[in-house]
Amino acid sequence: MYKEALRPAWVEINLSHLDYNIKSIKKKIGLDKELIGVIKADGYGHGSIEAAEILRENGVTTFAIATFFEAMILRNAGAKERIICLGLSPDIYADTAVEYDITPVFCSYENAKAYNDAAAAKGKTIEALIALDTGMGRIGYQADQIDEAVEDLKKVAELPNFKIHGIFSHLSTADATDLTYSREQEEKYNRFYDAITAAGIEVPYRTLANSAAIMRMPSTHFDGCRAGIILYGLYPSHDVDPADLSIKPVMSVKANIVHLKDVPEGFSVGYGRKYISDAPARIATLNLGYADGYPRPYSPYGKVIVNGVVCPIAGNICMDQCMVDVTEVPDVKVGDEVIVMGTDGVNSITADDIADATGTINYEISCAFGQRLPKVFVR
Ligand SMILES: *Cc1c(COP(=O)(O)O)cnc(C)c1O
Repeated sequence: MYKEALRPAWVEINLSHLDYNIKSIKKKIGLDKELIGVIKADGYGHGSIEAAEILRENGVTTFAIATFFEAMILRNAGAKERIICLGLSPDIYADTAVEYDITPVFCSYENAKAYNDAAAAKGKTIEALIALDTGMGRIGYQADQIDEAVEDLKKVAELPNFKIHGIFSHLSTADATDLTYSREQEEKYNRFYDAITAAGIEVPYRTLANSAAIMRMPSTHFDGCRAGIILYGLYPSHDVDPADLSIKPVMSVKANIVHLKDVPEGFSVGYGRKYISDAPARIATLNLGYADGYPRPYSPYGKVIVNGVVCPIAGNICMDQCMVDVTEVPDVKVGDEVIVMGTDGVNSITADDIADATGTINYEISCAFGQRLPKVFVR
């Protein structure tokens, strides 16, 4: 039980595993490629400041986040590294990018001009990445409309207080068994890069790979590799080969039993009475619910580990609490530690288990658990 958590439920972040994963990824991409630590969404729920610290210890000098506010959190915590913001930001926020020395991405002259003007007003120069849409369909210059992009980028290149640092694009199916589409994206990326550099636009830095491409597409590693989910010890999908990269899960979720009762046959538990005991049973209550990222649709499939025994969730997960059928656990007591996600060395419940049961991906599970639960960092 952690007094400092102020509640009997918490996320445990294993920083040794994070360190292990970073070293493993660095080994995979090689010394000549930069590892960009993707720590958006509070490090996928793991704590971006602490994740940044372990990345820093491993010599990582570039982080990526998704919003300017996430960059401000890192700067306010003392981060001196390059911080790339992977999402577009409207012109009115350009002054924030300058003030916090953020490397934004852009795909229009107008947006680049706003950054230029904000930088000029402060007597500074801002560096940015070209966003290129090679087939994700999200943001960026259209890779097939090279002439238009070249015209636009030529104007951008003349902005005095704005410097094109590099170019990025994002792969949409690098985690799928069939890599045909990813290869097409890679080709478009290369074609676009060749065309704009041939037109005289200087683009010193190239980055394309995400976690899946780090594992499976070495030709996309270029200058920098954007590692997200694999930092946290989770694989980007079931279709990648774990043998391609050794990683360990960083996040566990734990809770202490706060209440225990023996109930007769026919006793109902929770909203909607989805659990009704068919025999005398023992029910434990945990201080953890869907507002903590424990998905309500997991209720019918949910399992936790109590003193080495895998136990089912009883009834619907509530907003802030849930109940567990601990009838099969010998000598169970109030205060016993329950593994909601993680392993006791024998049994394990993974982010993928929870994601698979609820029709989502492990990314969403770790992000959600990171929202409200206190974090306890262990080495
Ligand atoms: C989130 C994100 C990444 C990291 O993706 P992973 O699959 O977690 O490695 C890389 N690039 C961009 C643009 C992203 O939005």
